[in-house]
Amino acid sequence: MSNSSFHLYQLQKVDLRLDHLNQRLEKIALLLNNNPRLVKAQNQVDLTLSIIHGKEDELAKLEQTAAAKKIKIDQSEAALYNGKIINPKELKDLQAEINSLKRAVGTVEDEQLTLMSQLEEIHLTLLQDQKSYDSVLAESESDNQQLFGEKSELDKEKEKLITERQAASGQIQAEVMNIYEKLRMSKNHIAVSAIEDQSCATCGSEITASDIQKARSSTSLSFCPSCGRIIYAG
Ligand SMILES: [Zn+2]
Repeated sequence: MSNSSFHLYQLQKVDLRLDHLNQRLEKIALLLNNNPRLVKAQNQVDLTLSIIHGKEDELAKLEQTAAAKKIKIDQSEAALYNGKIINPKELKDLQAEINSLKRAVGTVEDEQLTLMSQLEEIHLTLLQDQKSYDSVLAESESDNQQLFGEKSELDKEKEKLITERQAASGQIQAEVMNIYEKLRMSKNHIAVSAIEDQSCATCGSEITASDIQKARSSTSLSFCPSCGRIIYAG
């Protein structure tokens, strides 16, 4: 096997592209599983619904209160007119009680009307909230279509790259592959560095002419004296 650094350099190009693809595929998976705008729109609908339910409960209580007072009014009016009470003081007190109950019912009915008009407004808010939710949902579905399209392109490219990687690594001795993999892990995914202007393109350190010569011709590997990466002399 000749000039391992050439094959390693080609392999690294494939690996860096694969790293990039995998990162993007992870991001796409996250985006597909979690759309913060949709969650927010749903929360807004839920919030408005809970306000509506609270107001409806209040309204139901007011209706019960009014109904109870009306029953009391009916009973008192029946007592007032059935002729059993003849004492004028008692009749006067009973009439006063009926009047007071009727005023109380009037107050409760006013509160009911206020609540009902509030409910009408909140129902309009709910319609708006639901419209917003629907539009975010539609948007998210079309975004997702794009994401699914992108994902399928990336998956195809990834498959191709994995085949390329197998072919490239087949050109490289096992112990050299070992060194490459270890460097990739410890050197931020860059195991092989090209030479630019007699320097390591990654760390900038100068490479001697004899090291460059060695890297170019030799069947063994040369390393940058500063960062320790494998030198590829081109
Ligand atoms: Zn270096």
